[in-house]
Amino acid sequence: MSDTPDAGANGGGETLSNKAAKKRRRREPPPDPAPLPGLVDAHTHLAACGGRDAESVRAILDHAQAVGVDHVVTVADDMVDARWAVAAAEWDDRVYAAVALHPMHAGDLNDETAAELEQMVRHPRVVAVGETGLDYYWPGRSDDCASPEVQHETFRWHIDLAKRVGKPLMIHNREADRDLLDVLAAEGAPETVIMHCFSGDRDVARECVDRGFILSFAGTVSFANSEELRVAAELVPDEQLLVETDAPFLTPHPYRGQPNQSYCLPYTARAVADIRGVSGEEMAQILGGNARRIYNIPLP
Ligand SMILES: [Zn+2]
Ligand SMILES: [Zn+2]
Repeated sequence: MSDTPDAGANGGGETLSNKAAKKRRRREPPPDPAPLPGLVDAHTHLAACGGRDAESVRAILDHAQAVGVDHVVTVADDMVDARWAVAAAEWDDRVYAAVALHPMHAGDLNDETAAELEQMVRHPRVVAVGETGLDYYWPGRSDDCASPEVQHETFRWHIDLAKRVGKPLMIHNREADRDLLDVLAAEGAPETVIMHCFSGDRDVARECVDRGFILSFAGTVSFANSEELRVAAELVPDEQLLVETDAPFLTPHPYRGQPNQSYCLPYTARAVADIRGVSGEEMAQILGGNARRIYNIPLP
């Protein structure tokens, strides 16, 4: 989870029928993109996309696979979600899981949840520890969000866990660039660090690249007001680049605000290809190859 669903611009002075049409459009799923073979959705939330059981998960993956998205990593936010993500990865061999306590839920860490998370992370279909990190947007706005102090403590525990199990650390960062990089430096980063839904400027991007981190771009890179993000997406070396949907949030342009799912990933992959001046097909091969190497996912 990166954000609340995109609220978008609130257009003033619209007629009622215009507003109704807009409202309808917001519920409408985007059309299928032209297929782009070889992609992996590096970060999605299948349960929040309508996944409930094996059948509904299969339907989401069938749809994704029809446009070239062969595998997805479904990411948990809390303990209930983590158990569900591991089950989903067992139901369908196109699904892999990442488990952790999201910074919002950092206060849920105790001896029992720590032991259970560690056991889940060692599951062969769990490919990353995440999403964990720091979120400075929600404290003060939501009573349900853990305080920054608690977030720091839980983040450090997840960093240590990733190192002990030898799996990538998947980072959530919202308005916490400096502290996040400092905590990682102080603790010692695991071998593989993925900055999910990268949202920093070019300087943060360069610092992450220099530290060997992976930058994963979501639909935000295609938004009209994301010029700085496009500069970041251009300067990352091929082998440190991923794309993700973070679905159901952050639907790529021109469908911003409509429901997102893994089948929408080719829109973002093509946006990144345009930024980097390569073909969509070439970009998909690079991005898919990176995801398979980073998460240790076999070819379909
Ligand atoms: Zn997420
Ligand atoms: Zn997130």
